[in-house]
Amino acid sequence: MPSSNGSQPAAPTVAIVGAGFGGIGMGIELRRAGIDAFTIVGRADGIGGV
Ligand SMILES: Cc1cc2nc3c(=O)[nH]c(=O)nc-3n(C[C@H](O)[C@H](O)[C@H](O)COP(=O)(O)OP(=O)(O)OC[C@H]3O[C@@H](n4cnc5c(N)ncnc54)[C@H](O)[C@@H]3O)c2cc1C
Repeated sequence: MPSSNGSQPAAPTVAIVGAGFGGIGMGIELRRAGIDAFTIVGRADGIGGV
């Protein structure tokens, strides 16, 4: 959606908390939507959850 001054809005920058199933899936869907400006942060040393 264009911003109020008619220009295209800047792409969002997204922070995803948790590198488990949901967080990784969110990253995949953001990429599919053309949004590459995201960071996944996790509590554990690697990816995965439960
Ligand atoms: C034994 C077992 C078998 C399963 N088998 C299946 C199956 O066959 N098919 C299926 O569909 N589902 C299965 N599930 C369920 C599935 O694993 C969960 O539904 C799914 O992992 C939940 O995803 P989630 O992203 O909500 O949580 P999680 O995958 O648990 O990810 C949460 C992430 O957030 C991080 N985190 C937590 N707190 C913080 C914090 N404060 N700051 C930063 N990071 C944080 C954790 O370290 C973790 O990486 C199984 C679950 C179990 C326990």
